[in-house]
Amino acid sequence: MRTAAALVVLLAVALPADAQRTVAITIDDLPFVSRDRSLATAQQGTTRLLQALREARVPAIGFVNESKVHIVGERDARAALLQQWIDAGMSLGNHTYTHADFNKQSAQWFADDVIHGEVVWRPMMEKASRRELWLRHPFLHTGGDAGKRAAFEGFLASRGYRVAPVTLEHSDWWFASLYDRLQAQGDPAGAAKVREASLAYLDTMLDYHEGLTRRLFGRDIAHVFLMHANTLNSQIMGEMLQRFRRRGYRFVALGEAMQDAAYRTEDHYQGTDGMVWQHRWGIALGHKSGPADEPEIPSWLVQLDKATPR
Ligand SMILES: [Zn+2]
Repeated sequence: MRTAAALVVLLAVALPADAQRTVAITIDDLPFVSRDRSLATAQQGTTRLLQALREARVPAIGFVNESKVHIVGERDARAALLQQWIDAGMSLGNHTYTHADFNKQSAQWFADDVIHGEVVWRPMMEKASRRELWLRHPFLHTGGDAGKRAAFEGFLASRGYRVAPVTLEHSDWWFASLYDRLQAQGDPAGAAKVREASLAYLDTMLDYHEGLTRRLFGRDIAHVFLMHANTLNSQIMGEMLQRFRRRGYRFVALGEAMQDAAYRTEDHYQGTDGMVWQHRWGIALGHKSGPADEPEIPSWLVQLDKATPR
């Protein structure tokens, strides 16, 4: 332990200020995902998420599924949640209207779902003089076969969209679902354990993805972190950001992170898995890896998940 601590101190001293790591925070499934689907939960969660981001002066982009805005009797109130993001200085992007699975849809159908999904947030961005257009693929499913993928990416380019990749993630949606169910069951102690476990798994997955990146590029790259707008994250956002800071990260906008040359690496992936971009780049760079190599969620949590009613 003493040796490890000494090494950390040495590294901290040896790193020049400009060697800081950078990460862009991206948050999917806006306006909000929660088990109870109530407007009040979405309002509380959105306010908490944005408060933590603003307090830490962190820019972020939220990816919207507009089907979740169109709840009868709540359309204006749910659209107002999106406006809150823009008012807080954040960006919005497209996550398709329905959050459909591209593996099961044609390129034409999927393009229509993108167009259908920009009716509310896009005018809000334009009114704030924000012209950037980003798409995050639901489930990170980018198209399976090469023809379908190329057809869809041609559509995106013609409409002015750029694809938002992902290089860091920790299955936060899985922890959030279990957390919500334990709370609904009246088990706050169990929920608190899941909360801590999600933070520990965040560190485990950051270690893994950072290592994978250094193996591919021989350096750290400007990362893109994926998380979701859910109740668990709204309660631990500040703590998550602190963990990034402790690892030497500073926070940048998605467009700035994407200026890293790593994002010009060829991507020959033609499969149906939703996975981080390191696994895709590894094909071109001769370092094959895949989701099966990733650290597993601890088995006690998998057991708890199975034992907790849906
Ligand atoms: Zn999503």
